[in-house]
Amino acid sequence: MNQYLVPEEGLTSKSAAELAQLIHSGEVSSRDVTQAHLDRIAEIDGTLNSFLHVGADEALAAADAVDASLKAGDAPASNLAGVPLALKDVFVTTDAPTTCASKILEGYMAPYDATVTKKIREAGIPILGKTNMDEFAMGSSTENSAYGPTRNPWDTERTPGGSGGGTSAALAAGLAPLGIGTDTGGSIRQPAALTNTVGVKPTYGTVSRYGLVACASSLDQGGPSARTVLDTALLHEVIAGHDKYDATSVDRAVPDVVAAAREGAKGDLRGLKVGVVKQFDREGYQPGVLESFHAGVEKLTELGAEIVEVDCPHFDDALAAYYLILPCEVSSNLARFDGMRYGLRVGDDGTHSAEQVMAMTRAAGFGAEVKRRIILGTYALSVGYYDAYYLQAQRVRTLIAQDFANAYEKVDVLVSPTTPTTAFKLGEKAEDPLAMYNFDLCTLPLNLAGLCGMSVPAGLASDTGLPVGMQIMAPAFQDDRLYKVGAAFEAAR
Ligand code: GLN
Repeated sequence: MNQYLVPEEGLTSKSAAELAQLIHSGEVSSRDVTQAHLDRIAEIDGTLNSFLHVGADEALAAADAVDASLKAGDAPASNLAGVPLALKDVFVTTDAPTTCASKILEGYMAPYDATVTKKIREAGIPILGKTNMDEFAMGSSTENSAYGPTRNPWDTERTPGGSGGGTSAALAAGLAPLGIGTDTGGSIRQPAALTNTVGVKPTYGTVSRYGLVACASSLDQGGPSARTVLDTALLHEVIAGHDKYDATSVDRAVPDVVAAAREGAKGDLRGLKVGVVKQFDREGYQPGVLESFHAGVEKLTELGAEIVEVDCPHFDDALAAYYLILPCEVSSNLARFDGMRYGLRVGDDGTHSAEQVMAMTRAAGFGAEVKRRIILGTYALSVGYYDAYYLQAQRVRTLIAQDFANAYEKVDVLVSPTTPTTAFKLGEKAEDPLAMYNFDLCTLPLNLAGLCGMSVPAGLASDTGLPVGMQIMAPAFQDDRLYKVGAAFEAAR
C-alpha cells in the first residue's frame, strides 16, 4: 500500500486560494508555482498515471504572461490568475491532443478551444496538462482508459474512481491544486469521494458543453474540483455562465458560489433543513462508510441544521434507467467516430470499402466498455424495443425528478454517502460490468433530474482507513447551497 499524498508543506500542498494570494501579492511567481507542480508530476506521475499529456512549455508560458501582467501593475485577470490546473482530456484544446483516453482519438488535435478551456485561459490559469479518464467518460475506475489505469494516491493498488480519476488523483497527490472534470453520472463526485477531495456537478446547462466531447448529451455537465470547498467555488465562478455556442446552456445569472462558501465557513447552519435520503442509508453499504456518513450528519446537527429522513422511492430505479438512457445517447453520439472525420483510420489501403474502413476503425479504436454501450444502446433504440426500454426509462426519469421535487418541498438540501464503499482494488470489478455500474447508485439520480451536487470529504472509514465522501444535493440553480453547506461541514471537521 504505497501512498503518494500531497506533501506536508510547500507550494504543492497549499490551497488554490492561498497560492493566488501569494502570487497576486508578488510573494511568489506563477512560474514558480507552476514549475513546482510540473516537478511533482515528473517525480511521481510515472506511478500514478494521472496525466495523459503534460504541457510544460505551454503552462510556463501562461504563467509568465500572468507574472508579466501583474508586474506591469494590472489587476489579476481572475481570483485564480496564476494558479495552475489539470484538465480532463475530454475538453478540446488547440495546444494539446484531446483523446478522451481512447485509441480512436490518439494524437487528435482539435481546431478550437472548448468554452471551458477558453474561460480558463482568459482567467490566467495555466493548464498543466490533460488528465486520464475512462474512455469517453464511461466507467467508474479509470481502468477503461486505453492508456493504462490511474492509481489512487491513498493506496496505489486501488483505483481513484472514475471516470475522472486522473483529475482527482492529481489533486490528492499535489500534482495540481485545481481540476476540471465532467459528471454524467458521478464522474466528478465519485472520484472526489475516493481521493478525499471536493468535486461539484453543477446544475445541468450552467457550464458550457461547447467543445466537450459528448458522452450522453442529456446528462453531461462539466464542473470544478479541488482540495477545498472555497477553491472549488473559485473555479466554479470561472467556468460557469451562459454560452451562445451551447444550445442547452441556460441564460441565467450564476449564483454567488464564492460568497456562499465564505458564508458557510462561518459554521452556522441554523434554519437549514437537511434531508437524509432513506434509499442511500441502508445495510449493504460498507459499515465504515455509513459510520463516517452518520458522524457527518451529526456534525450538521451540531452546526444547527435540522435533520429529516426523506423517502425517494424511485431512486432505487435510477441505476436501471441511467444504464439504458446513457447507452442510447452514446450509440448516437459516438457514431461520429467513423475513421473519416477524426483520429484513427484503419484499413485505408485501397482494398477496402468505406464501410469496411469504418467497421475496422471502430473495431480497433474503441475499447470493450465503449463497444458494450454502443451495442446496448443501438439495441434499446431499435424498432419494437424503443417503447419497452428507452421510453420506459424516460418515464422513470420523470418519477425521479418528482421524488426530488417532493423532497425539496420539505428540505433545503439532501445528503447521502457519495459511494457505497471506499476505493476498491484495481481489477476487482473490471471483469464485472454490473458490479461496476452498481458502484454509481448514489450519484446517478441527480444527473437524471438535471440538478446539482457536491462530494465533500467526510473522514477516513474506520474499517479500511480510506476516504469517505459525503454527497450534498440541491435543487436546480441553487448550486450556492452546496457550497454553503459543504464549507460549513469542512470547517467543522
Ligand atoms: N460511472 C458512470 C458511467 O460509467 C458515470 C460516468 C460519468 O459521469 N461520465 O457512466
